[in-house]
Amino acid sequence: MRESKEDGANALPMQASRTGNAVPGAPKRKAGSATGRGGGNAALHELGIVYLVGAGPGDPELLTLKAARLLQQADVCVYDHLVSNDVLALVRRNAELIYAGKEKSNHALPQGDINALMVALARKGKRVLRLKGGDPFIFGRGGEEMQFLAEHGIPFEVVPGVTSASGASTYAGIPLTHRDYAQACVFVTGHLKSGTCELDWEMLARRGQTVVIYMGMGQIEEIFGALKAHGLPGDWPAAAIERATTPKQRVVTGTLTTLPGRVAHAALKPPALIVVGQVVKLRGELGWFDTDGENLITHAAPAHA
Ligand code: SAH
Repeated sequence: MRESKEDGANALPMQASRTGNAVPGAPKRKAGSATGRGGGNAALHELGIVYLVGAGPGDPELLTLKAARLLQQADVCVYDHLVSNDVLALVRRNAELIYAGKEKSNHALPQGDINALMVALARKGKRVLRLKGGDPFIFGRGGEEMQFLAEHGIPFEVVPGVTSASGASTYAGIPLTHRDYAQACVFVTGHLKSGTCELDWEMLARRGQTVVIYMGMGQIEEIFGALKAHGLPGDWPAAAIERATTPKQRVVTGTLTTLPGRVAHAALKPPALIVVGQVVKLRGELGWFDTDGENLITHAAPAHA
């Protein structure tokens, strides 16, 4: 990507609408000015802005043009662990990079600290890029973070990203809907707090739909057991896709009965996504994205009407 003006503040959209979320009486950022950033006198700083940007599932070419532009204009980038290195490499070279973590057992920064950090940076007049994997409003806590900013009168904008359900299924050759197989598609979190009873299993076990499970790898056996208990047959097709859209993508296919064992055997690790439904059968015909062959693990999905 061409590197534009290093300090491209003038190219930022300066319309007042972005402050529409600010609480009444909150300090407003002065429109059209690029001064007052990076200095030491906090009192004189005008209010900055936070851009909550979806980084997509990994392949940097899946960034939106808007995301790519904002990556080049940020003063500070606060990023989560799901953001790929290839995307991080596109952040403006002299922007400050802050890792906010969020790996399950390795929280680099607790959520409260991340929220406070963004408010503090914006109050210093910084253009803050809050970069999250996939789409920030899909299982990304983006909503919560922006609520916090709104409560504190910090202007923000949100840029959607390609969510991993879309990226992973596409790069695995599995259309999420197909007129012959799935008329609906459900995204669900598999990160279950207490057992498996929190989800609406009856709804999830319906036929004629595709179920995409985020954060489900740790509980794949429980999840598949519940789907079977609620009526799906054991030979219902399913796939797991690890590090989707990257050169390290691995795909394992099978059925509700066989997939958990195959996933364990292949030692698939997060981040990985689970796709359940007849559409998985189409991978044989539509798989197009091959990594170097070594990484590609494919088991023919069973023929199932
Ligand atoms: N906001 C993100 C989801 C965050 S939840 C999005 O829209 O994609 C984290 C989960 O997303 C992971 O546990 C995994 O299930 C999924 N995920 C994110 N990136 C992925 C990738 N590159 N490949 C496979 N799954 C991914």
